[in-house]
Amino acid sequence: MKLLITGGCGFIGSAVVRLAIAEKHRVVNLDALTYAGSRSNVASCEDNPRYTFEHADIRDRAALDRIFAEHQPEAVMHLAAESHVDRSIDGPGDFIETNVVGTYNMLEAARAYWTGLRGMAKAAFRFHHISTDEVFGALGERGLFTETSPYQPNSPYSASKAGSDHLVRAWGETYGLPVLLTNCSNNYGPFHFPEKLIPVVILNALAGRDIPVYGAGENVRDWLFVEDHAKALLTVVARGTVGETYNIGGNAEARNIDLVRQICALIDEMRPGNEPRETLIRFVTDRPGHDYRYAIDASKIRTELGWQPSVTLEEGLRRTVAWYLENTGWWQDIAARGAELRRLGLGASA
Ligand code: NAD
Repeated sequence: MKLLITGGCGFIGSAVVRLAIAEKHRVVNLDALTYAGSRSNVASCEDNPRYTFEHADIRDRAALDRIFAEHQPEAVMHLAAESHVDRSIDGPGDFIETNVVGTYNMLEAARAYWTGLRGMAKAAFRFHHISTDEVFGALGERGLFTETSPYQPNSPYSASKAGSDHLVRAWGETYGLPVLLTNCSNNYGPFHFPEKLIPVVILNALAGRDIPVYGAGENVRDWLFVEDHAKALLTVVARGTVGETYNIGGNAEARNIDLVRQICALIDEMRPGNEPRETLIRFVTDRPGHDYRYAIDASKIRTELGWQPSVTLEEGLRRTVAWYLENTGWWQDIAARGAELRRLGLGASA
């Protein structure tokens, strides 16, 4: 397939781009290269004749029209977004602009392009919107989010993603645009920007800095190794039923504090130090509106499309810690960008 992938220089997008290229697809990677995106994340694809990079912003409708016309994609995988909950609390404006207005622009550009297609090309076209389980709000001790769970977003980030999900659904219902939607739990793995919980823990533990954990660390998340998510997304864009939503999850729930202790123990094992790393854990004031628990029922994608996670949390964490140990240049470059350095010890989040 010829895929137009937005946000392909970010954490999950770059995993999708790398896998799509490995699976012999053609890829046009559209990315604005915000603080969260880097071409180094897809350096392994840059010289591939099936890969093209388009430096563009999804808030720029004219740029989107040009890219659709020039590249004639067979499917869109829309991942570009502002993705960090803490940043959305500090400054929600960018989240509304990119996640809501940017998605609206993508839908309109895709609709104009799709309307002009004919025959097989028109029948085969797909617009796959990639979203989060955070749109469903928080769970208590029990229960799982399903594809029919009500939307109850609690943070500006999740509200902006919920808004984008609703637009996608409406463009399918109203205009007949062939849309697919996926909602996934927390991802982790290589190339994860060092403002999110797992890389903050790894890098602070390695540097002997305090490891901040929100509240009492009792919030529960379901974790999915990013390469498993990329496989799920390529499965859905190729074989999912148009108009359907699929939940994607790792079937790997963990309390934040247990996850942090597990990472500390892995680092102690892989890079022995003088003190156990968990002595660096510091509990910090909780995030406002912090959702207690997210958990996913991913039985629909398993039964209908045959996808399920292949990497356990234990194995995925081991691979992730090993990747950060081997790729010091990658995160040191980010730290050297200055402002981000100040965030490394702050606001660890999941
Ligand atoms: P990320 O922040 O690592 O990457 C986002 C990418 O989008 C970056 O490359 C950035 O440059 C690009 N981008 C941002 N604004 C843009 C704009 N206006 N125009 C063009 N490009 C722009 O995010 P991520 O963690 O890889 O998440 C990707 C997608 O997956 C998002 O839509 C997110 O909501 C969703 N998601 C993330 C998770 C998770 O755990 N990280 C879980 C479920 C769903």
